[in-house]
This record gives sequence, C-alpha cells and structure tokens, in this order.
Amino acid sequence: MTTEVQRSTGAANAGRPFATGRALRPSTKVLPEHARGHNRSLVLQTLYRAGTQSRADIARETGLTRVTVSDLVAELMAEGLVIETGQREDARPGKPATLLDLNREAFQIVGVDLSGYSDFRGALLDLDGQVIARAELPLAGSMGREATAKVVDLVTSLVEAATLPVLGIGVGSPGVVDLAGIVLSAPNLGWSGEPLQQVLADRFGLPVIVINDANAAALAEHSFGDADSDMMLIKVGHGVGAGLLLDGTPLFGSRFAAGEIGHVVVGTDGGAACACGKHGCLETWLAVPRLEAALAASDSDDAKLQILREAGQRLGIAMAPVVGALNLAEVVLSGPTELLDGPLAEATIETLRARTMAEFHGDLTLRMTTLGEDIVMRGAAVMVLSGQLGVS
Ligand SMILES: [Zn+2]
Repeated sequence: MTTEVQRSTGAANAGRPFATGRALRPSTKVLPEHARGHNRSLVLQTLYRAGTQSRADIARETGLTRVTVSDLVAELMAEGLVIETGQREDARPGKPATLLDLNREAFQIVGVDLSGYSDFRGALLDLDGQVIARAELPLAGSMGREATAKVVDLVTSLVEAATLPVLGIGVGSPGVVDLAGIVLSAPNLGWSGEPLQQVLADRFGLPVIVINDANAAALAEHSFGDADSDMMLIKVGHGVGAGLLLDGTPLFGSRFAAGEIGHVVVGTDGGAACACGKHGCLETWLAVPRLEAALAASDSDDAKLQILREAGQRLGIAMAPVVGALNLAEVVLSGPTELLDGPLAEATIETLRARTMAEFHGDLTLRMTTLGEDIVMRGAAVMVLSGQLGVS
C-alpha cells in the first residue's frame, strides 16, 4: 500500500460548503410508520442548515410541537448527534434558552471519485463538506478485480486517516450503477455487474453508497452550487455522461442509465468510429482524449476554434430534445475549463437556443460548475449524509 494521505490545510474550502446550498427533495412520501424518522431528520436538517437553535426555534421552524422536539432532541443527544452549545444571551425576562447544534464533530465521511482517466481520487470530509485529507491512487490501466482492489486500497487509507468515527463511504463511479450499488457496466474499468457497494460494506463494516459519477456531480451542484431544481449536469472527461435533477429529485431512469448520453449518435453525417462500435457518438466529438487529440493534430488557431465549436454544436444538438421535453432551466458543464469554457460552451448555448422554443426555453442558462474537481467526491458525501442522517 503506497497511497499517501495528505492533510488539507483547509484554506481552499473555507466556510461551511455543505450548509450553504439547498436540501434535496425527498423522493418518497412519508408513511405514518416513518413519521418518527422523518421528524428526526427534520430536527437534524434544521440544525444542519440553520446552525445553533433553541428547542423553541426548532419547533417553530419545523412545525413540530415543543414536546415532540424536546423528546427527539433528548434522543439525538443520547446518540451524540446533537450537543448543547450554551445559553442564548438576550435581555428577555425569564430563563435564557439553551442553544443546540448538530454535533459537527461526531463523524467524518469518506468520498471517492472513480471517474478520473489516470487516478482514483478520494477524500476524508467533515460533516460540513470540508476536505480534511486527500488520497490518490494511480489507475495504471487496472481493470476488473484489479481496479476493485485499488478502490479498497484507497478507501482503506482514508478510513485509517479518520480521526472520528466514519459515518459512511460514498463512491461516484463511471458507468451504469443500480440502486443496490452494483456497477452494471463500466467498460473503461472492465466492470460488468461489479457489486462494489457490497464489496466495500463487507470489507469495512460501514454504510456504503455507490452512485453514478455524473449523478453525484449533479447532487453536489444542487446542494452547494446553487443550481436550479430542474437541471442537467454534463460531465466531460474520459467519457461523456449527464446527471439529471427534476424538481430537485435525481432521475435514474428505468434501467438506471438516465443521462448516459455519451453513446447517442449525433447527426447523419458519419463521424469517427467509437469504442462502442457505432460511428459519430457524442463522445467521439466531446470526450477529453478525443478533443485533445483533434486539437493537437490541427495546425492553425482557426482550425482549433472550429474543432471546439463543432464539439459544442454536437453537444447542443444532442441536448436540445432533452431540454425541450423536460423544460430544463439550467445546464451545468463539469470538466476541463480550458476545453469547455469559451467557444465550445458558446456554440452549445447558441445551438440549444436555435433548436428549442424561445418563449419557453429562452431563459435557459449554461455555465461551468464552480465546484472544481472535488465535485464527485462531495456529491458522494451528500448521498452518505442524506442516507444516514437525512440531511443534505
Ligand atoms: Zn459510442
């Protein structure tokens, strides 16, 4: 094991990134037998988002009775999830209110990003989403079981670096991932039906959530990037994928392949051969290795500009029916800024506007993510928080 875990100085992610954005919409109805759990989550969510509150504040905020709140707070304090932080200093008569907060030092989270072309990356995060330590492991062409073993090595180094109990492990993986965390298909890693969630849960005895990398990125963008509730995130890297949120809820699709737009053929004019056997897939125009190769082979600035514009137009052509059918408000791009931001993004938005109904889609916006390269790890951590504590 040669993974080196680097402690973060914290300077790069000051503030409380997890707590600044918006919560995910719950995707299921609350049944009576789940009411207590739902109310627990409401209390935790209120403290998570708003910071220190009194019991009375929480009751007001959640609409729960004072008795219910006191009861739940007692339970959460006994579990170490909620702590008393002191008394409110105010001039009101009577006994000053005791303030409570989520115990932000109760747990740490392991977040892992398997979408990189050359490295697996991971981080140890606190409950507010700040990176405490990072680790990377060169992929070196590993496929199949060898790739799985590298994920285990990476997670081992991060779990060992934890200075508090680990709440769970979140993993963003390329390819098609089902709700049980089985990677149904990830050709670049040689995985087909790989039970990654189970492998990690058995190995570490911790809650594990494995989701598609672009879906993780979309969740991160929604939780901390201030994205619209009806949005699509396009992730451009080794391949091309998309994550969709409709009304704040992630969309997985009937066979968990929603957003797999990389192998949609764009146009009727042929195009380059794709690894999947077809010609002219979106990836052949837009994936980073393809774009870099085309730019390297071009001999003038004009030719380079044309390559970027063409890639942007093909993306716009592929997305226009989706934007039109779902009436999306926002498209966010995640990937190398030097390739995506500029002529490529401009050509995409021009193409989208030209191909959709201006009166309903004219205010559509397209922008780069502001979350940089930690986007997948942070989205994976959101899934752990949401799954274990009901907060996001
Ligand atoms: Zn293809």
